[in-house]
Amino acid sequence: MKNTSDVLAGFGTTIFEVMSKLAIEHKAINLGQGFPDEDGPADIRAVAARTVEDGPNQYPPMMGVPELRQAVADHDARFYGLSVDWQTDILVTSGATESLAASMLGLINPGDEVVLFEPLYDCYLPMIKLAGGIPKFVRLDPPYWEIDEDKLRAAFSDKTKLILMNSPMNPTGKVFSREELELIAELAIKHDTYAICDEVYEHIIFGDKKHLSLLTLPGMGERTARIASAGKTFSLTGWKVGYLTAPADLTARIAKAHQFLTFTTAPNLQKAVAYGLAKEDVFYDELKNSMQAKRDRFRDGLQRIGFTTADCDGTYFINADISSIGFDGTDEEFCRLITTEAGVAAVPFSAFYQSEGARDNFARFCFSKRDEVLDAAIEKLQDFFGKRG
Ligand code: PMP
Ligand code: GLN
Repeated sequence: MKNTSDVLAGFGTTIFEVMSKLAIEHKAINLGQGFPDEDGPADIRAVAARTVEDGPNQYPPMMGVPELRQAVADHDARFYGLSVDWQTDILVTSGATESLAASMLGLINPGDEVVLFEPLYDCYLPMIKLAGGIPKFVRLDPPYWEIDEDKLRAAFSDKTKLILMNSPMNPTGKVFSREELELIAELAIKHDTYAICDEVYEHIIFGDKKHLSLLTLPGMGERTARIASAGKTFSLTGWKVGYLTAPADLTARIAKAHQFLTFTTAPNLQKAVAYGLAKEDVFYDELKNSMQAKRDRFRDGLQRIGFTTADCDGTYFINADISSIGFDGTDEEFCRLITTEAGVAAVPFSAFYQSEGARDNFARFCFSKRDEVLDAAIEKLQDFFGKRG
């Protein structure tokens, strides 16, 4: 057999699939792959069901159904004060994942450099490489995961085509500060690059932290795309409805790739998401408050067992330091052990690194689960580590 894609030969099966499979095999509580265990609002699902019954069920427009594009424009005006034209500046895609893929394929030429923060979400690097891009990693380190200004400056060059960033950030739970975004903006403008911002956790953000989109910073409106997802905002991860906001010219370049990838996304789900985005503030407040309560509940449980936990200002992931309870193996060994022996699955943090020297002392737990599930997971971990002494 002839060789298949050399780029993909360098990547295994995603860690989310690997850990979910192991969790199923061992009947473990799955706090690995990030998904809520309760489906999002019943009224949103009812709109989808009705639209499946009544139609339309044929190909919607390539850019997305008008109702959803209008709803995204309204959402962006309401939460970020953005003034965008729904007809030219919004693109609906099959999940945020497709927006990311279309952005990489639509913008990168072979040899272009792409600045990325590490640790990073797993699909970024394969997409960049498939497009022929060359990654320039900027490492963020615990406990605060702050940008090292010199390192970021050094990562940019005249060959930089774009910076790809994620805030609130999976897997660290970091929310980029205004100062950090201003530094990114300064460098993007100086080197005349694009910025692709993965903002799927825009509404899962805690305490006094506020989501700030790079797109709103001076000089960034003409070069930035922000990407969000109904999967996270409405706890409907299986729907894979994503949306991208960018200036018309940039949206058109990204849509060129989208038209050859999926062309479109289920019209019924798009209509239901349009309905959902218009929900009152109380919905968004409740999402944030309930996730924050879950974070606190699970974090306190981990700490009672003896784990030190990293800060989590956004996303539904929290990282436990496995060395803090005296575990001296790798994060991978730890996650396999707790899945198979304690009955709780987590994701090894090192899976979010692609360059040398991954941090391997954290296990990432997803806390978007019912309280009783979180409590049961803590009990299982407590039993296991208690007995182990
Ligand atoms: N980006 C990040 C940071 C994520 O955690 C996820 C996870 N689901 C995605 C993108 C993908 O979103 P979607 O399911 O809408 O494709
Ligand atoms: N975003 C999810 C996570 O970080 C996983 C999505 C997927 O399985 N592809 O766990």
